[in-house]
Amino acid sequence: MKYYGYAGKILRINLTKRDFSIKNLEKDLMINFLGGRGFNSKRLFDEIPPKIDPLSPENKLIFSTGPLVGTMFPTASRFNVSAKSPQTNILGDSNAGGHFASEMKYAGYDQIILEGRSKEPIYLYINDDSIEFLDAKHLWGKDVYECDRIIKKDLGDKSIQTVIIGPAAENGVKFAGIFANLMRAAARTGMGTVMASKNLKAIAIKGSKSIEVANPKKFEKIIEEIEEEIYNHPQYWPRRKMGTTRILLPVNAMGFLPTRHFTSTVFEFAENVSGEKLAEEYNIKVRGCFSCILPCSRFYIIKEGKYAGLYGEGPEYEPLSSFTARVGNGNLQVALKAIDMVNKLGLDAITTAECISWAMECYEKGWLKKNDVDGLDLTWGNEEAILKLIEKISKREGFGDILADGVKKAAEKLGIGKEIAMHVKGLEIIQADPRGAKGYGLGYVVASRGADHLRSEPFMELSDDPKKGEKLFGIPEATIRLEYKGKGKLVSYCEDWCAIVDSLEVCKNVAENMEILPFDKAAEVIEAATGLKLNGNDVRKIGERIINIERAFLIREGIRKEHDTLPKRFLEEPIPSGVSKGSIFELEKMLNEYYEEREWSKKTGIPYREKLKELNLENVIEQFEKIGIEME
Ligand code: SF4
Repeated sequence: MKYYGYAGKILRINLTKRDFSIKNLEKDLMINFLGGRGFNSKRLFDEIPPKIDPLSPENKLIFSTGPLVGTMFPTASRFNVSAKSPQTNILGDSNAGGHFASEMKYAGYDQIILEGRSKEPIYLYINDDSIEFLDAKHLWGKDVYECDRIIKKDLGDKSIQTVIIGPAAENGVKFAGIFANLMRAAARTGMGTVMASKNLKAIAIKGSKSIEVANPKKFEKIIEEIEEEIYNHPQYWPRRKMGTTRILLPVNAMGFLPTRHFTSTVFEFAENVSGEKLAEEYNIKVRGCFSCILPCSRFYIIKEGKYAGLYGEGPEYEPLSSFTARVGNGNLQVALKAIDMVNKLGLDAITTAECISWAMECYEKGWLKKNDVDGLDLTWGNEEAILKLIEKISKREGFGDILADGVKKAAEKLGIGKEIAMHVKGLEIIQADPRGAKGYGLGYVVASRGADHLRSEPFMELSDDPKKGEKLFGIPEATIRLEYKGKGKLVSYCEDWCAIVDSLEVCKNVAENMEILPFDKAAEVIEAATGLKLNGNDVRKIGERIINIERAFLIREGIRKEHDTLPKRFLEEPIPSGVSKGSIFELEKMLNEYYEEREWSKKTGIPYREKLKELNLENVIEQFEKIGIEME
């Protein structure tokens, strides 16, 4: 069979035996799950038995790209990496851009499955069909940047692409990430921790093959149209200048910027730490991912002061606002230093900042004393405490060892602050207060990897434009930020959309946030690239199928309706000040509508049997029956 768009091969590597096999991409997988995230979620459901220890050799770490990656399609540069998460014990999955994914396609692979565990620290060198298992003892303990430099020197080729874990992963921190192009972080849900448990420090990859598309003329025409749309989009220049940091001031102005661990939603030093400030005083040039015409990543340099000489790429909104507003720090240079440390040590910035800010709130409340936290002064914004705690977490040293399992487990271990541990299903909440953006909040509640915006990203509600809601869902309130009605429809629509974007492995900033690739357009692109004949409804159905197989994974691990919730503060305490003052999060108003939309039981949160049948997920029904999970 000839493949268009896809590389057409799956590489399976057994790290225990140090052998590998290369097989053809399965047609069923392609048709029903499209690529990237879809491929990984299906593979995990099929190949990982329920209830395994995520750090055992039984867990599998899977990298996938999508059918547009490696072509000229703008922003098609991403990969998903998935496994059972050691941080949450449910589905683990993370996504990053840069240049690794395209190189993986050029080496000939749509998916790389890593099984077992190496006895010794190694790294893999994949050069087309040649797979080498190389000694990594000299790399163990090295930070991400240093490791990348040494690998490229060892292999004598600077053009090799890498994914790397940092010392935090090696030390067993449960929220360690995998880093491509130094700071393109697949950081959520502890995928780096799984990689470390396999004694795998890095993958270096080089490819010399090419990707053919089914209808080159049509494909080129669509690309021209899409490029035109991107260049003329009102967000083009703000994104190019500031990346996602452009939203820090608007989120603050709308009154839902998590500040001092969600005790407030307005940060008085927001101007000093904004994307605008960063662009004006620190940025020196921009950079894009593979095949992107919107280079939204920026390089900065600190020219004077204590951190003079520090330079790097980024940061994005999440780490920036995490290490400023969330921890109560108004000094931009301290935030840049913190983010630099987090990237080099290989940590998830959102989780790290949640752990630190949670400890700071416990300290303020008197639940933690100085002698509980290694003598540190955990006053809001204390530079020494922030930087020391990052280091201590990465080494699992002293109080850092308690935080290194994530906020949920830290609260459980210490027996304090459970109600203010800001997570859903063990994954820490991002930098948007759900009381001030109801669709986002509902997205955290139901996301298949725990509290997360990137599974749904219902940005449309921030428009506060009732016409949009009316047009898309017949409900004007659906696209009004503080309203409840229609949010079930909004979130399920955006979740299906994000599942498609993550499976095509294009960039969500452009495809979804800028609304460049709605379902109909995606169908056209898929047909031109792969030859698969689909319409917009078919594409949405694939998205829905992916959401349901992920939900099935969670259900199998014991997740039910009672886990679809938020920390108490959001449900009981109104926002204290700012333009969203008085707003609270009334979960039931939205959750039932969401379940209805999804055709999941309102009693249990389990998908209806008929829904699973309609989505051709008969194997899920079989598995559920085998292990005694009742479906309505
Ligand atoms: S918009 Fe930014 S993050 Fe997205 S592909 Fe382009 S450079 Fe990468």
